[in-house]
Order: sequence, then C-alpha cells, then structure tokens
Amino acid sequence: MAIKATIDWDKCEGNGVCARVAPEVFTVDEQGNSDVLLEEVPANLRANALLAMRQCPTQAITVTEE
Ligand code: SF4
Repeated sequence: MAIKATIDWDKCEGNGVCARVAPEVFTVDEQGNSDVLLEEVPANLRANALLAMRQCPTQAITVTEE
C-alpha cells in the first residue's frame, strides 16, 4: 500500500506547522512556500504525516493510502 501526501497550495497559508510535525515529509521555507519532500511516504512516517494533516490549520494536507 502506497501512502501519498499532497498539499493544496490554494489553502496553505505557509505557517510551517506541517514541517514541524513531520519534517521528513513536509518542508516550508522562509517565504512560506510549502512542499512535500517524499513522492511516497514510508510506513514508519505514516503516523507523522497523518498528524500533520490533522494539525494543519487550513486543512490543506491530504494523506491517501492506495
Ligand atoms: S500546516 Fe498546512 S497551512 Fe501550514 S504550511 Fe503546512 S500545509 Fe501549509
């Protein structure tokens, strides 16, 4: 099962919460530009990715398992 994380940049406000919760998965630079670092989220980072999704204040993050 592949775990994928995406950010909706229309919703992201660049506050950096995701990068603090799951720095292996998400990055946010000083300008507030966020990005997903991993094409596929390894199983050991799944919980962190889901936590970041829940803690994102603007619900910009989607984590899917397919
Ligand atoms: S937590 Fe959400 S709003 Fe904040 S930088 Fe990450 S994706 Fe953007």
